[in-house]
Amino acid sequence: MEGQEEKYVLVCPVCNSREVYPVTDVASIDGAFQTFYHCNHCGFTSQFFVEMEEKEASKLEVKEVDLEKLKGKIIPVVSTNNRVIGWTFKTQNKKVVSTAFNLAKLIGLMLLLFLALGLLSIFLRLYV
Ligand SMILES: [Zn+2]
Repeated sequence: MEGQEEKYVLVCPVCNSREVYPVTDVASIDGAFQTFYHCNHCGFTSQFFVEMEEKEASKLEVKEVDLEKLKGKIIPVVSTNNRVIGWTFKTQNKKVVSTAFNLAKLIGLMLLLFLALGLLSIFLRLYV
């Protein structure tokens, strides 16, 4: 160890570019405002970017992406003021929706658990 902290950077999983910037005005399917990342090199926009050590990332070769070849597999990403700011894979939007759905289910279960614990503690205080 040289006492130097490793620097981590976001890398575009499609083209390996490190020109990745956060975008906060994506109109997502479930209506929630979420932070997405946008690749300035190929336009890929997603919540799922790869984080890696800057040293490793700089070794990657940046690829040119042919969007014509990806036609049918990708959809445009639209900002809240209806501007197309990039593109993403069709399947990834399904993932975004299902993650939000699972999270809502998880929060519901947690609330039920808290309610049950609360009732249990009241019961114990009354009868023990
Ligand atoms: Zn890219």
